[in-house]
Amino acid sequence: KKIVEVDDLSVRFDITGGILNRTIARVHAVENVSFHIRERETLALVGESGCGKSTIGKALLGLVPWDGSIRVDGVQTRGRSRAMMHPVLRDIQMVFQDPGASMDARMTVGEQVIEPMRVHGLARGSELQDRAEWLFKRVGLSPDMLSRYPHEFSGGQRQRVCIARALSLSPKVIVADESVSALDVSVQAQVLDLLQELQEEDGLSYLFISHDMAVIDRVADRVMVMRLGQVMEEGPRDAVLRDP
Ligand code: ADP
Ligand code: ADP
Repeated sequence: KKIVEVDDLSVRFDITGGILNRTIARVHAVENVSFHIRERETLALVGESGCGKSTIGKALLGLVPWDGSIRVDGVQTRGRSRAMMHPVLRDIQMVFQDPGASMDARMTVGEQVIEPMRVHGLARGSELQDRAEWLFKRVGLSPDMLSRYPHEFSGGQRQRVCIARALSLSPKVIVADESVSALDVSVQAQVLDLLQELQEEDGLSYLFISHDMAVIDRVADRVMVMRLGQVMEEGPRDAVLRDP
């Protein structure tokens, strides 16, 4: 079953400048890109820096204005802005490279895991706390760490918190944007194992953005290679990576 279906996705950024703040240039970050991701599948997105990988991830989450068609589990999103994408926003969650940057240093990690569930009305009162504890156990953290602040965690632990937060809304798809790139190799392996375990348990699909071929080789079912905003090549991992 296809969970994500993207057709003719394009993203352009207008660069403004000068004293009149007029558009002085336009960047075609992503041009007519089409792909799909099946249930329980990991599609890896590779290509040199600036080729549009992150922009595709952000378009799926409605974080940048886009053109084209994005369908998630058969639901066509109605428009290019975040508000218009409301029907699919719970189904796609993102885990970023630097977990510190997406966390609030003044809030306990427990509050940050609970926040999206509260906003989406998924649980209330003591249910929220129970669910946060359950999520922490799932990602390999002790529930009594919920009352601590981000700076008390190691990089790998912070990434686990972000994964718990992403899972809190029971998404179908996780966009992992360089999610293990900042971690030591041994910690990387642990986080990748966790992501794989969660995929098997929940039937998750991943859009896995990475520049690290060893990581791609380990996680990807299929690989999509990009260059200057366009798809160069797409296919099963071994066909793409072992291509002479
Ligand atoms: P990658 O993730 O492959 O490194 P990005 O998706 O971050 O590439 O960027 C693709 C292109 O779009 C780059 O040329 C980048 O500079 C440009 N870009 C990304 N975000 C913006 C933005 N908010 N405004 C203007 N240009 C942007
Ligand atoms: P990545 O390669 O992981 O996307 P970057 O350092 O390229 O990270 O981009 C960091 C942030 O800056 C992103 O949110 C991206 O959209 C934005 N950005 C990238 N290029 C530009 C640009 N030329 N103008 C404005 N914002 C940009």
